[in-house]
Amino acid sequence: MYTHMECNCRCINCKNPSLISNDFIASDGYEDAHHTCKACGLHFNHLDGEQFKH
Ligand SMILES: [Zn+2]
Ligand SMILES: [Zn+2]
Repeated sequence: MYTHMECNCRCINCKNPSLISNDFIASDGYEDAHHTCKACGLHFNHLDGEQFKH
Protein backbone atom coordinates (compact mmCIF):
# COMPACT_ATOMS: atom_id res chain seq x y z
CA MET A 1 0.00 0.00 0.00
CA TYR A 2 1.34 3.35 -0.95
CA THR A 3 1.23 5.84 1.87
CA HIS A 4 1.78 9.41 1.00
CA MET A 5 4.64 11.00 2.83
CA GLU A 6 3.59 13.25 5.68
CA CYS A 7 5.88 15.97 6.82
CA ASN A 8 5.71 19.35 8.44
CA CYS A 9 7.47 21.32 5.79
CA ARG A 10 6.31 24.80 5.00
CA CYS A 11 7.15 26.89 1.99
CA ILE A 12 10.59 28.44 2.44
CA ASN A 13 9.40 31.49 0.56
CA CYS A 14 5.94 32.34 1.90
CA LYS A 15 5.65 29.86 4.84
CA ASN A 16 2.45 28.38 3.46
CA PRO A 17 1.86 24.85 4.84
CA SER A 18 -0.16 23.74 1.79
CA LEU A 19 2.36 21.91 -0.35
CA ILE A 20 2.21 19.41 -3.17
CA SER A 21 4.62 16.56 -2.39
CA ASN A 22 6.57 14.86 -5.15
CA ASP A 23 8.12 11.66 -3.81
CA PHE A 24 10.62 9.76 -5.91
CA ILE A 25 13.68 7.55 -5.78
CA ALA A 26 16.72 9.55 -6.74
CA SER A 27 19.36 8.23 -9.13
CA ASP A 28 21.56 7.36 -6.13
CA GLY A 29 18.85 5.04 -4.78
CA TYR A 30 17.74 7.22 -1.90
CA GLU A 31 14.18 8.27 -1.36
CA ASP A 32 13.83 11.95 -1.95
CA ALA A 33 11.00 14.42 -2.09
CA HIS A 34 10.35 17.81 -3.50
CA HIS A 35 7.54 20.13 -2.61
CA THR A 36 5.69 22.63 -4.70
CA CYS A 37 3.97 25.43 -2.81
CA LYS A 38 0.28 25.75 -3.66
CA ALA A 39 0.36 29.45 -2.88
CA CYS A 40 3.43 30.77 -4.70
CA GLY A 41 4.49 27.77 -6.80
CA LEU A 42 8.00 27.55 -5.38
CA HIS A 43 9.66 24.18 -5.96
CA PHE A 44 12.10 23.10 -3.28
CA ASN A 45 13.72 20.04 -1.72
CA HIS A 46 12.01 18.39 1.27
CA LEU A 47 15.21 17.72 3.19
CA ASP A 48 17.40 20.75 2.76
CA GLY A 49 15.11 23.36 1.31
CA GLU A 50 17.18 23.73 -1.83
CA GLN A 51 15.26 25.65 -4.46
CA PHE A 52 14.84 24.38 -7.99
CA LYS A 53 14.33 26.38 -11.09
CA HIS A 54 11.22 24.82 -12.48
ZN1 LIG B 1 5.09 29.58 -1.13
ZN1 LIG C 1 8.79 17.90 3.46
